[in-house]
Amino acid sequence: MAKKKKKNRALPQSVGINIPGVETHAHLDLEDFSEDLPEIMQRAKESGVGRIGNVFLGPQAYHQNKGLFADYPEVFFLLGVHPNDSGEFVEEDIESMRAAFKADPRLKAVGEIGLDFYWDSVPYDVQEDVFRKQLVLAEELGVPVAIHSRDAHERTLEILEESGWSGKPLLWHCFGGDTETAKRIIDHGWYISIPGPVTYKKNEVAQEAVKSIPLDRMVLETDCPFLTPEPWRGKRNEPAFVVFTAAKVAELKGLEVNELWKVCSDNAHRFFNLRDCSD
Ligand SMILES: [Zn+2]
Repeated sequence: MAKKKKKNRALPQSVGINIPGVETHAHLDLEDFSEDLPEIMQRAKESGVGRIGNVFLGPQAYHQNKGLFADYPEVFFLLGVHPNDSGEFVEEDIESMRAAFKADPRLKAVGEIGLDFYWDSVPYDVQEDVFRKQLVLAEELGVPVAIHSRDAHERTLEILEESGWSGKPLLWHCFGGDTETAKRIIDHGWYISIPGPVTYKKNEVAQEAVKSIPLDRMVLETDCPFLTPEPWRGKRNEPAFVVFTAAKVAELKGLEVNELWKVCSDNAHRFFNLRDCSD
């Protein structure tokens, strides 16, 4: 008789990471984490996650929520108006972001910014306008950008090429594309961030692409609470789970997991200009 079995899922500590590394993209200020942030930070530390990039979805979220991380100097910040929110963008947002970056050394990159043609709730021309304005701001501030591009690779690449971003510091967040798209990103001198879905069995296209990405250009992320990797797929994602993504990428690259983890962490330090936890 078929009895519903409770799945015994591996814990992130079981991956065996032995050096602190970097999870480059989390949304820990969302409601999903309001109940248990201290436990989440503890599990991240115990699993080998030494630094976490928290992504604030616009200046309002930044001002409201940055205080959540007052006791966690290992968290650094990204700030940008997400394409899905660009309908509510106002010109003052740029001034507000400029002031924030000048005042707060924990802010390391403008992002996530870009285009989302999957959720087309905001007209494309509005998304593009808000995207371009934030590219200009990042250039002025001299900070890297993190790109969100969903069902919009072609147009995103066009805009970045037109804006002269080739060769400038750019991270393609949540990469799920094919080998050809990866090559185009790499050819511009940019970095690629690998999220949890690379662990899914049927995701051969992204797995093949990951094999093709040079080791010195990749970083790892969760995009939590979304995109949970195996074996926790279906549950809420959290920073500790990035080590499962590391294990899969290491397997694809034919490396030992700690070796891969160290390379990706070094890349993240270089890309985001991270030094120690006090900056
Ligand atoms: Zn995100």
